[in-house]
Amino acid sequence: MSKLAMVTGISGQDGAYLARLLLEKGYRVVGAMRRNSSTTLGRLAELGIEQDVEITDFELLEDSNIRRTIERLKPDEIYNLAAQSFVGSSFEQPLYTAEVDACGVTRLLEAIRAVGSTSIRFYQASTSEMFGKVHETPQRETTPFHPRSPYGVAKLYAHWITVNYRESYGMHATSGILFNHESPLRGREFVTRKITLALSRVKHGKLDAVEVGNLDAKRDWGFAGDYVEGMWRMLQQDTAGDYVLATGETHPVREFLTLAGAALGFDLVFEGSGVAERAIDRKSGKVVARVNEKFFRPAEVDLLLGDPAKAEKTLGWTRKLGFRDLVTAMAEADDRRVSTGQLSF
Ligand code: NAP
Ligand code: GDP
Repeated sequence: MSKLAMVTGISGQDGAYLARLLLEKGYRVVGAMRRNSSTTLGRLAELGIEQDVEITDFELLEDSNIRRTIERLKPDEIYNLAAQSFVGSSFEQPLYTAEVDACGVTRLLEAIRAVGSTSIRFYQASTSEMFGKVHETPQRETTPFHPRSPYGVAKLYAHWITVNYRESYGMHATSGILFNHESPLRGREFVTRKITLALSRVKHGKLDAVEVGNLDAKRDWGFAGDYVEGMWRMLQQDTAGDYVLATGETHPVREFLTLAGAALGFDLVFEGSGVAERAIDRKSGKVVARVNEKFFRPAEVDLLLGDPAKAEKTLGWTRKLGFRDLVTAMAEADDRRVSTGQLSF
């Protein structure tokens, strides 16, 4: 009998890569997904697995739906990837973000508790945004938290409720504290994909220039395909725990812009400072990126840099794709999509 994995947030970036990994490992994969007026399985289609994943209706706001789904499926493993995952939106929708990202996790844990099964293994998608205004560098499992956005605050609640259900009820509930991870399947609003898509449009004459916010922010950016392997390894441990997944490198947004530009044939030089800063292509003299303060955040996370030592040692987790190759893969994917007009997500 193959194991049954329930993956919430199947239509998102991580859901697609995790589903592919679990299918390769012989799992039966049920993707839990909220109803939408349009088909949003473009990422699964891009990985060629759209037909291999079973889909079930799932909404993190709806307690009864969550309970029925878990009672019916009785999954071996639940990966909770569903969330309002964009920091920027969380400042505009703080209550909704809390309902989904914080209370939604309690609904799931309560449903697992209600079916009375201690054999279900639960993964919670926690985030380096919980470190926020960092108290030490690099950040690891023991670093104190100081979130800087309603998203970070909601995810911190979700982290602690996961720990609490592990300690209170002996549940196999794990919190993966993942640093930013990107891919050609990343959502368009995140700075990496925003840059690769916009610069591809600039290259093909479909956009004048990309407007961005804080170019000084530094992130520890890894490849999503590597990170889902870490999630799976966490749930194969005999005991549940908390694990940081990170690369141990940090890069400013400005560097991502430069490398993405290079992959698309631009030779970028930066001029000016603050809101007047611009990126100019040396070859054409054209401004291809400029700062717009509307993308600044009310409170910023200036620097994230993770220490993945525990995951490397305990889980044997390693990474296959480095930063430069990741940027290039994202730029090339968007270049191809823009030139063929095939942009489904
Ligand atoms: P993503 O692409 O934004 O996917 C989020 C998923 O959650 C989508 O499938 C979305 O469905 C679903 N969802 C949103 N609200 C829901 C609700 N109320 N009920 C049911 N489903 C809902 O995010 P991702 O990058 O794959 O990230 C996966 C998880 O890891 C998220 O929890 C995120 O916060 C966390 N995380 C991500 C990173 C990162 O760098 N990627 C780092 C740390 C933690 P729709 O398609 O319908 O919107
Ligand atoms: P986050 O780390 O989850 O907030 O991931 P994002 O990709 O949304 O943002 C990463 C960093 O890039 C943050 O410090 C942002 O302030 C910064 N940033 C700079 N310009 C932009 C922009 O235009 N869009 C986004 N999303 N972030 C930007």
